[in-house]
Amino acid sequence: MTEQKIGQKLTEPGPVSPKYLWHAGELVEWDQATVHVSMLGWTAISAVFEGIRAYWDPDRQELHIFRLDAHLKRLFQSMKIMRMTSPHSKEELTQALSSLLRANEYQGDVYIQPLAYFAGGIPGYLAVLEQPGVVLMTSRPAPSNLTSSKVAHCNISSWSRISDNVMPPRAKAITNYQNSRYVSTESRINGYDFGIILNQDGKVSEASYACIYIIRDGVAITPLISSGILESITRDSLNRLLEEELKVPVVERELERTELYIADEVFICGTSVEIQGVGSVDRYQVGDGQVGPITARLQSLFNQIVRGGHPGYADWCTPVYQDQKTPV
Ligand code: PMP
Repeated sequence: MTEQKIGQKLTEPGPVSPKYLWHAGELVEWDQATVHVSMLGWTAISAVFEGIRAYWDPDRQELHIFRLDAHLKRLFQSMKIMRMTSPHSKEELTQALSSLLRANEYQGDVYIQPLAYFAGGIPGYLAVLEQPGVVLMTSRPAPSNLTSSKVAHCNISSWSRISDNVMPPRAKAITNYQNSRYVSTESRINGYDFGIILNQDGKVSEASYACIYIIRDGVAITPLISSGILESITRDSLNRLLEEELKVPVVERELERTELYIADEVFICGTSVEIQGVGSVDRYQVGDGQVGPITARLQSLFNQIVRGGHPGYADWCTPVYQDQKTPV
């Protein structure tokens, strides 16, 4: 997706759309996938979604969906928090997603977005108890940045993170992203790439749509699950890779703002940002201002794993083209 520039009009044409999306149980041609205009707005209140990546392996001409099981599990957990049931099983969605990617004939990295929402004419602020949602899955080309040495310049946001008793961050709900949007808009206006959000206790929570780590004296430190973060699948993966593969101890604990200023390395991670080094926080330079050595090793290892090139992590990669049994 081409990134929207500040000042760009929202009505300007977007990138070229893929041929198909998947909606309510079937593959639908992009231009035919319409819903009534009255669906705008209220359906988003309780809508939940996922962001998933699939990585292309040019050697084996294969596309691998990264940690699909974990993403579908989190989608179902988000739906449960919304008291929404799924009309499709995880297996059905797995097959459907593979069919969608094959139908779009991707030969490169892809970003996938499943969305589950309540259709119908009920205003979104009224209670809807245990009803099935409608599932939509879209996809688009999204080249990986894992081999880039670009660093992000971050600020501590003046906005606070939502919390479990307000808007539970554990649910990947569309409405939670108004918090992220306030943060990222403020950052962009002030000339930063990403905002880092403190929680209601003033401790570091996460970046606007990514989790955060610091490296101090050879130890990786990341905020607790209960610090207002989304239960990130990348964070879960990196905790394991840091400890098991790079032999870097990981500590999950409360993290204070000034620890970011004095850290040896800082990086943010998530499906969309992948693993990105942070060059400065509030204009305090981090390390030498470049991607740190542990961050660089992690990026390189992760890039190998997500493309299906590491036998120890084959169960994290769902091949799309190998299984041709499912009809498109
Ligand atoms: N926090 C927020 C608010 C996010 O939107 C994301 C991206 N999904 C993350 C953290 C990272 O989560 P994941 O690694 O599962 O993509």
